[in-house]
Amino acid sequence: MSAAPQPSPTLALVVAAGRGVRIGGEVPKQYILLAGTPVLRRTLATLMQHPRVDHVAVIINDADRVLYAQCVAEWAGGTKLLPAIIGGATRQASVRAGLEAVAALSPAHVIIHDGVRPFAPPALFDSTLDALAASDGAIAALAVTDTLKRGTAGGVSGTLDRSGLFAAQTPQAFRFAPLLAAHRAAQTAKREDFTDDAALLEWQGRAVALVAGHGDNSKLTTPEDFARAAALLGGASTGETRTGIGYDVHQFTTGDHVMLAGVRIPHSHGVFAHSDGDVALHALTDAVLGAIGDGDIGTHFPPSDPAWRGASSDRFLAHAAGQVRARGGVIVNLDVTIVTEAPRVGPHREAMRTAVAAAAGISPDRVSLKATTSEKMGFIGRREGLAALAIATIRLP
Ligand code: MG
Repeated sequence: MSAAPQPSPTLALVVAAGRGVRIGGEVPKQYILLAGTPVLRRTLATLMQHPRVDHVAVIINDADRVLYAQCVAEWAGGTKLLPAIIGGATRQASVRAGLEAVAALSPAHVIIHDGVRPFAPPALFDSTLDALAASDGAIAALAVTDTLKRGTAGGVSGTLDRSGLFAAQTPQAFRFAPLLAAHRAAQTAKREDFTDDAALLEWQGRAVALVAGHGDNSKLTTPEDFARAAALLGGASTGETRTGIGYDVHQFTTGDHVMLAGVRIPHSHGVFAHSDGDVALHALTDAVLGAIGDGDIGTHFPPSDPAWRGASSDRFLAHAAGQVRARGGVIVNLDVTIVTEAPRVGPHREAMRTAVAAAAGISPDRVSLKATTSEKMGFIGRREGLAALAIATIRLP
């Protein structure tokens, strides 16, 4: 590896500044382990090994510096990976920050690539770069094969002609100077609404070539995308299934509502608790932590820590689910039974399933929620408190 700067190098800018809030949990999706390796490291490995890419620079979120340093540790000390660039509020602002940060290297060509597309074949980078011989930009794209409908949740209002329509992927390769100029012009024009880099070049009236994308080169966005990706890598077949159990009880006290499975229910009493006292979410959190053998809710959120006073318990479950994903795992299903004489759970069941699913980052059809009384026996029967039992099934690589 030579430290001498090359004339007119080819650079790859990898966009990894998003917060990944759509997937739930606390680890941004580009750092989630896929069969034991962070998604971003997989994406970067292809570029770091690519002979036509001279330098790779990653645009990250300021909050992710530590995660990023762990992710790229194997390349630290080399000259191919440039220092991380802190991104902006939008994808467009992030790429602009990246382009400005590397402009001093006078690159001839730049590849823009999403950090959450780990399955882009190496040849796709070649074909987009090759197309720059005749064009200022070239993007990987797939012809649309599904029939396109216009409509709302209420129904279909029309069918679109799909001929000539393509779904844009990354990589997108560009001659560096026109792309930087287009980004600067957009900033001057206060246009921050471009959703990819090709659109900026199109806006400038410049030619963008289409090269054939790849069906496996999808963007990992939802928990289902990650589950499919893990299966693609053999994670599902070689992985293991685990189960965890959780139990929680809280005492009734004066108050006017209880929190149950993330739903606020008016009641003649409240519960005595340090947090919001949601027995269902506490039992589920312990079940998920139990499945990965990672302590319990008290070790992760000590009652002695004032930070959790009155805390909304969906944070606890989201944290536990994030711990599963950080190990490259997926939650297969969650099942909880609430034991109480009152309030009635039935009218709130669907809202509870939805709330639990949102906190765990899974679809509601993977959540079961049941309720029973204690037939007026024992402390629950005497309405002194309420309890919940939960089981979590997860799959680990
Ligand atoms: Mg509790």
